[in-house]
Amino acid sequence: MSKRTFSIGGIHPHDSKISRECAIETLPVPPVVYVSVSQHIGAPAKPVVAVGDKVKAGQVVAEPGGFVSAFIHSPVSGTVKSVGPRKDLSGNNQNTIEIAVEGDEWVEGVDLSPEIVTGFPDDNSVIMDKIRQGGIVGLGGATFPTQVKLAPPPGKKCEMLIINGCECEPYLTCNYRYMLERAEQVVIGTAIIKQVLGVGKATIAIEDNKPEDIAHMEKVVAGLAASSAKYAGISVMAMQTKYPEGGEKQLIDAVMHRQVRSGGLPIDVGAVVQNVATAFAVYEAVQKNKPLVSNTMTVTGDCLPVQHNYEVRIGTPISYIIEKAGGLPEAAAKVISGGPMMGKAVSNLDAATVKGTSGILILTEEQTRRAPETHCIRCGKCSDACPMGLEPFLLFRLTKADMVPELEDNAAQDCIECGCCLYSCPAHLPLLDIIRTGKQQVMGVIRARAAAAKAAAEAAKASQVAK
Ligand code: SF4
Ligand code: SF4
Repeated sequence: MSKRTFSIGGIHPHDSKISRECAIETLPVPPVVYVSVSQHIGAPAKPVVAVGDKVKAGQVVAEPGGFVSAFIHSPVSGTVKSVGPRKDLSGNNQNTIEIAVEGDEWVEGVDLSPEIVTGFPDDNSVIMDKIRQGGIVGLGGATFPTQVKLAPPPGKKCEMLIINGCECEPYLTCNYRYMLERAEQVVIGTAIIKQVLGVGKATIAIEDNKPEDIAHMEKVVAGLAASSAKYAGISVMAMQTKYPEGGEKQLIDAVMHRQVRSGGLPIDVGAVVQNVATAFAVYEAVQKNKPLVSNTMTVTGDCLPVQHNYEVRIGTPISYIIEKAGGLPEAAAKVISGGPMMGKAVSNLDAATVKGTSGILILTEEQTRRAPETHCIRCGKCSDACPMGLEPFLLFRLTKADMVPELEDNAAQDCIECGCCLYSCPAHLPLLDIIRTGKQQVMGVIRARAAAAKAAAEAAKASQVAK
């Protein structure tokens, strides 16, 4: 079994996976859920319920607002109490549907039994419809609507499906638990995605700090391959443990030895990457008619007396989850949504989870304290660590000098915000915080340029028609 990794940069932070032995528990349904209509990349969904409406779990409450958008379903049964702006995890207002919970009644047709269904439709249009209707989005962080990602543009062909089981972020273990406890469903989901893409090969990539997952997944893959030809062509690949192995471009480099160019997409080099949690969600939508109304998240922190991996209904307030996990410890100084490297600080504990929430990490004052900044000593450690081949010290300086065209020339837009530069800098400079601002400015310029080009093309077309 080969062990691969990406070719440039990367770091080895302590993995701190102190919740790895915690089996997935189902968190009790909260009294109220807050369901945002902006839980995915793309246009927000449009609410189709009004105050006073009775809803069931699994019922559509918002429809896609565009081509790149997704259905949103009620995660509970109850009464719609309000539809309007509410603060999300970052403190930004999002259109949100508030539902007071009454019982736990599901829409007809959802199979809640534990039985594992291995046979799936031959007709890809049936599968794609179920994925779209199920509101499935990428659960590895990007929350890109899955039905869009599974329909490559004309002229592009998928040669390899990569299922991302790396979970390279320290502290997070919910994907680890998925692969131990729900391996069959993940492999069936993988086979379904593979069929839709019409690709012969799928690789489930797992870092070698999870040997139990690797062994178990290999066994399940072999068992299903022996049961039906539909499961042929799926393999398990052990990856070196190195952060950010689970980054989309890094994983493609590691598995296929192909590099996605600046501004390019994985499909440009024949790859489609999906997370193990997304493969599970595809299984649930296609095989059990169950839309994406819950997700699994790690609730962890060295100051927490007990660690957890919870299955949580989407829209559950963070404060409720923390209360069920034993309450906020006295030593808690910061709550992060996600892991310590790429997660975001939670500014509002009353905010609710969304489809992409993968963890809640509680840090102490000591863990969040930053060492005092000194001066750049031009050691180059940030460049050595950058997995995108960027020069973080240069991007830092250009952002501070407000030199946006030069930032674009030096590919600030390619920054994946992994934090490797920040982690490596002996001068403790806030490289990521500053570079993120520069990246946003460049992205604004790129978007404005694309909009202007589109408008000019439309105007030229209209003038041709007029002639
Ligand atoms: S945060 Fe951006 S600049 Fe820093 S190492 Fe990661 S990709 Fe490179
Ligand atoms: S790692 Fe820090 S000190 Fe070294 S070159 Fe980069 S910014 Fe300067």
